[in-house]
Amino acid sequence: MKTATAPAPRPAGGTPAERLAAIRATLAREAGATGRPQPTLVAVSKTFGPEAIRPLIAAGQRHFGENRVQEAEAKWPALRAEAPGLVLHHVGRLQSNKAEAAVRLFDAIHGLDRPSLVSALARAIDRTGRRPLIFVQVNIGGEPQKGGVAIEALPALLAEARGAGLDPQGLMCVPPFGREPAPYFALLAKLARRHGLPLLSMGMSADFDIAARLGATHVRVGSALFGARDG
Ligand SMILES: *Cc1c(COP(=O)(O)O)cnc(C)c1O
Repeated sequence: MKTATAPAPRPAGGTPAERLAAIRATLAREAGATGRPQPTLVAVSKTFGPEAIRPLIAAGQRHFGENRVQEAEAKWPALRAEAPGLVLHHVGRLQSNKAEAAVRLFDAIHGLDRPSLVSALARAIDRTGRRPLIFVQVNIGGEPQKGGVAIEALPALLAEARGAGLDPQGLMCVPPFGREPAPYFALLAKLARRHGLPLLSMGMSADFDIAARLGATHVRVGSALFGARDG
């Protein structure tokens, strides 16, 4: 019997396409157990070059995630020209001075977590005419060093974002390292329901199966697909 604490499948060798198929099968099984649609798999390709990314595109993967705007600007325009229908997600902390570049390049932004970024994104959307999908990141474990809006400050940030015309559609979190993630995922799902937000970006390589079981609509998986990162 699989328990909630069992680790997710690791990149146990195999080709990238085989790892992709294994992760998709896990997502289908976990979501199927709850009767929900399979979550969108965002392949987090930060630090990996086009030669690592192309095999996944060839295997049908279309959603990719990056955490650095400059790195993504260097990599993705060429890859986009090679393959139609790619969807780019910005994951993690976004500096306000990169907001416009991010809105030009990314189709989804998973890290709205503060009022200064609300204004920067609203300006960027006005100037570019582009409307990325927006997730508000919640500091779900109340960790001082971590990004994300405090749970108590979430209602005010959502009101501010909506007032600025941003229309956030979901919540995102990264649970505290080394803790059982399920209670944090369940809490994020509850907050999303309370605020009428349909999307949930949660689950990474170590816990995407648990997140899928708890209602993730987007899982962000890096090392389980690409292997360990150097830095
Ligand atoms: C790097 C990163 C991921 C992917 O992490 P893995 O553990 O390699 O799957 C997911 N979300 C965010 C915000 C990240 O920065």
